[in-house]
Amino acid sequence: MNSIKPTIIPRGEHTISRKGISHNALKVLYRLNTCGYSAYLVGGCVRDLLLGRHPKDYDIATNAHPEDVRRLFRNCRLIGKRFRLAHIIFGKEIIEVATFRTHHKDSHEQHGHSHEGMIIRDNVYGTIEDDVLRRDFTVNALYYNIADYSIVDYMHGMQDINDRMLRMIGDPEQRFTEDPVRLLRAIRFAGKLDLNICPTLEKSMHELSHLLGHVSPARLFQEILKFFQEGPRLKTFRLLLEFQLFDQLFPQTSDFLKQPETITLIESALSDTDDRDSEGKSISPTFLFSVFLWRPILELSKKPAEEDLPAHVMFEKSIRKVLRQQLDRLTIPKRLLMSIHEICFLQYRLTCRYGTAPFRLLEHPRFRAGYDLLIMRAHAGEPVKELCDWWIKFYSGTQEEREELIKAVSETTSPKKKRRRSRKRHKPKVKNDAL
Ligand code: ATP
Ligand code: MG
Repeated sequence: MNSIKPTIIPRGEHTISRKGISHNALKVLYRLNTCGYSAYLVGGCVRDLLLGRHPKDYDIATNAHPEDVRRLFRNCRLIGKRFRLAHIIFGKEIIEVATFRTHHKDSHEQHGHSHEGMIIRDNVYGTIEDDVLRRDFTVNALYYNIADYSIVDYMHGMQDINDRMLRMIGDPEQRFTEDPVRLLRAIRFAGKLDLNICPTLEKSMHELSHLLGHVSPARLFQEILKFFQEGPRLKTFRLLLEFQLFDQLFPQTSDFLKQPETITLIESALSDTDDRDSEGKSISPTFLFSVFLWRPILELSKKPAEEDLPAHVMFEKSIRKVLRQQLDRLTIPKRLLMSIHEICFLQYRLTCRYGTAPFRLLEHPRFRAGYDLLIMRAHAGEPVKELCDWWIKFYSGTQEEREELIKAVSETTSPKKKRRRSRKRHKPKVKNDAL
């Protein structure tokens, strides 16, 4: 057992009030406590409450074992194979209850490796002193004790909250080697909570960015999704760049990051998404994935083809190839891949401004995302200004104005004449530099 002594911050000396805590989380805490177990709020919720933010969810740490928790709550479900967690379900809200956990030197579970039979469940559990040592940052290791409403602070987390400082528990190099996802977590917390990264942490982050390559693509995807689900995205993107982590996540894009138009495109998409988020509009990660991968897709589509294939086939092949390669780094689910594919392929389809095609495109489920990407490409300096202006007019025009716009453009690029001459049935070849 460890002999670290905590600082106890009594009820009157911190800002957490029960009024700010979820009713359901309080219910669980009280029930555990009145049944003789210790029960604490821990992690992000305590940190967020102290920073005056609304917690996303509530985590509880206790000395009750999962089976004990299940006995106490009818609405409880046990999850996880090696380390069992209890989920107490209150409609849409799930309160996660974890038994104090000890740190295992051999533990690879953070890396997604399977360890069947290696650890007997009993020796995974520990005391609160063990539990605190396996947490990542000091600000994530504060425990709110329901027994007396005090905060139990083993790692000077309260001081770091007050100083707005992100500090690793233990030796950063060792902790990053144990679990390189902590590199991404550090960026995410620094970005969203506006925390300064302490100098020793900063130094090892610069030195160890390559470790991200050891993380499974499935876990990386889960982690990167959190970046897009919450802001500020522009700020965290800049931090990812600064610590050479973006390159690790999107290696195909990294070659293009030296080009100002790539940065302009990505940054305007991120800041636009941040704006949408603050206006309460829906956010789709697929739009941002499409933006990140757009430059390598475009570049590949411009490469001379081995076969004489129509432009749209070539373009689609480029999308597929880039997406396939991206899967080596991030396990993007099929449903999202299809959506990214569609948004990128719309960049081709938006060049086809004849007949009824533009009207049909307006009905396309991904039209708005494709249209937004086109506008951002034009702003970023890609040679698509004329196409972009045309679509802006078409999108906001009346039926007659739209028909006029199609007529005007078909005078210069009508494919019909070509088709009549060649009698070929396949789609018109649009030169790739029109994209
Ligand atoms: P948020 O939920 O706002 O993203 P959080 O800190 O609550 O932030 P979670 O992933 O919900 O993050 O994890 C809850 C707590 O579990 C963390 O605060 C931290 O104490 C611990 N934790 C989570 N992931 C790790 C990790 N990879 N290494 C060490 N501790 C971790
Ligand atoms: Mg959390």
